[in-house]
Amino acid sequence: MNSNKKITLIIFSMVTLLTLIIVALVAIGSRESGYESAKKRAYLTADIVKNALTSHMVNGNMNQRDVFLDSLERLRELNELWVVRSPKISEQFGTKTNNEIPRDEIDEEVLKGGKEKVVINESIERATLRITIPYTASSLDKPNCLSCHNAKEGEVLGAISIKFDIEADRMSSIKILLNIIATVVIFLIFILIFISRKIKPYTTSFDYITDVLKQVHEGNYSIRAKKGSLKEDKEAFMWLNEIIEKLETVLTGIEKNLTSFVHNRASNVNNDKLLTAKEIIEDISEIYNYKKTIETDLSKDDIYYRLIQVLKDKLKIETFFIFENDLIKDERTVIYAPNNSILPSCNIRKEIKELCRAERTKNIVASEAFPEVCRFATCDNQSDYTCIPFTINDQKSITIHILCNGKACVDNNKYQIGIIKKYLEETKPILESKILMDVLKERNLKDGLTGLYNRKYLDEFVDKTIPKELIQNVTYAVMFLDVDYFKMVNDTYGHDAGDAILQKLAQTMKKNVSDSDVIVRFGGEEFLIIMRNPTEESAKELALKMNQEFEKIIFKFNNETFSKTVSIGYAFYPKDTDQFWKCIKYADLSLYEAKETGRNKVIRFRKDILKNGDKADY
Ligand code: GH3
Ligand code: MG
Ligand code: MG
Repeated sequence: MNSNKKITLIIFSMVTLLTLIIVALVAIGSRESGYESAKKRAYLTADIVKNALTSHMVNGNMNQRDVFLDSLERLRELNELWVVRSPKISEQFGTKTNNEIPRDEIDEEVLKGGKEKVVINESIERATLRITIPYTASSLDKPNCLSCHNAKEGEVLGAISIKFDIEADRMSSIKILLNIIATVVIFLIFILIFISRKIKPYTTSFDYITDVLKQVHEGNYSIRAKKGSLKEDKEAFMWLNEIIEKLETVLTGIEKNLTSFVHNRASNVNNDKLLTAKEIIEDISEIYNYKKTIETDLSKDDIYYRLIQVLKDKLKIETFFIFENDLIKDERTVIYAPNNSILPSCNIRKEIKELCRAERTKNIVASEAFPEVCRFATCDNQSDYTCIPFTINDQKSITIHILCNGKACVDNNKYQIGIIKKYLEETKPILESKILMDVLKERNLKDGLTGLYNRKYLDEFVDKTIPKELIQNVTYAVMFLDVDYFKMVNDTYGHDAGDAILQKLAQTMKKNVSDSDVIVRFGGEEFLIIMRNPTEESAKELALKMNQEFEKIIFKFNNETFSKTVSIGYAFYPKDTDQFWKCIKYADLSLYEAKETGRNKVIRFRKDILKNGDKADY
């Protein structure tokens, strides 16, 4: 309902209510005045009857009183009239007819109580008023009542009952009422027409503004208000339209220019440019904060930690994995996996380039696109997945593997893909520099020929790692390896042949040690294997295995085939000594004994290996 109708209805209702109240008051008033005039007539009649009866009595023709009373009864509007005597008067004068004894309870009540009584009888067809007025004895009346009547002052002598037809009064009241109603209705119609015409321009303007504001509120910024018909509202409409136009220009600008900047996810689902702009600005500010924070982060792990936080807390992605892929080795490392979750099959460690569809195609792979598009990406309890590949440089890439169940979750993930990509883009240069630094650091700590850790690494390991691990009660076995008669290889087959043998030995060691063990190229053709938490048996077993495996390798240079052997000495830390460098020395001394006693053998450190000077420090 528009405002014009609303206001008209309100005014109409109020005026109608007022009219009804006035009509009701007039109706009640005219009814009352009808009764009052009937009552006045009754008093007048009662006085006339009283005086006439007194005259009849004084003139001695009391027996003619019926004639008089009958003549009164024939008067118009006077339905009935009768006079009754009180028991005392009847006793004094007797009753001429039965007419003079009380006809009903009202007569008796009035005779007894001396108070007049009025009874109104109304039906649809008729309306009557009956009034019974007592005649009381008074010495002040002329002639003095007490002179003839055997009664005391104030005593009831009799009563007169008169019944009036008040239908005519009622009809005249109704006529007055109808006239009033008719006048008011005509007046009302005029008022309504007048009000409606006068307020219509205002309410129409109000309705236009309301409608325009509603549409703007719903996100339609192309709407403009129509011009109103009044002078006053023209300016208001102009201002309103100008504001909407400015809003539209600014918001369209924000959406157009910044959406691509943040890969805005909201633009697809939000029809309201204002909300879209708000989300874009929020996204930009959050991405800026993220970038500023990771720029000052110390390590690659810190950066990954922030990325995980963004995915989990800001983008509300519940189940996801982050893999870092080594494109050269074709291997992947799990950077993040949800707690206690089973790794999805996509977490293949080898041949990611072939088996991970997202990595192979460099495109987002989503289960929504095609059923079982990647057979390695599903999980038992999470059937939907989205895999986002992101290249960092020639050597490294990231894969974000999101798992999901149900449409709401899939929709949310789809909605967030753009912003995830933006976060990854912002992460890329910083992560790349950290990866580069890690590579440089790694190179600095590794030997170029064998890819094993170098002496510098050993120094850091002894200074930093061992003290930390000792607190956790980690123990070590240190093995010293030296190739037997290695110089001869260089001399006979050349330096390159010697290098190839060293590389082969390095491979053999890597193949046989466990992930927690550390291999160091100590120098020349001497190597250290540092075993974590060994037992006497496991250390011996590993040393023997190295010795035997290496011997099995057949080398071929200058069309000659031969095999090489290695001698190994080993000691335990902190079992044999509480100083790590000393433990290395003990392993070296054991190796020396292996060389002295024939080579190609494994010797565990014993106290008696020490020379006299060394024994004193043991
Ligand atoms: P043994 O240990 O059995 O007593 O005899 P050996 O011939 O191995 O003796 P030694 O330890 O003295 O010889 C080590 C040789 O290793 C000396 C050096 O020329 C050679 N060498 C050291 N580093 C390298 C390297 O990087 N490449 C090559 N090809 N040879 C190296
Ligand atoms: Mg040697
Ligand atoms: Mg040597």
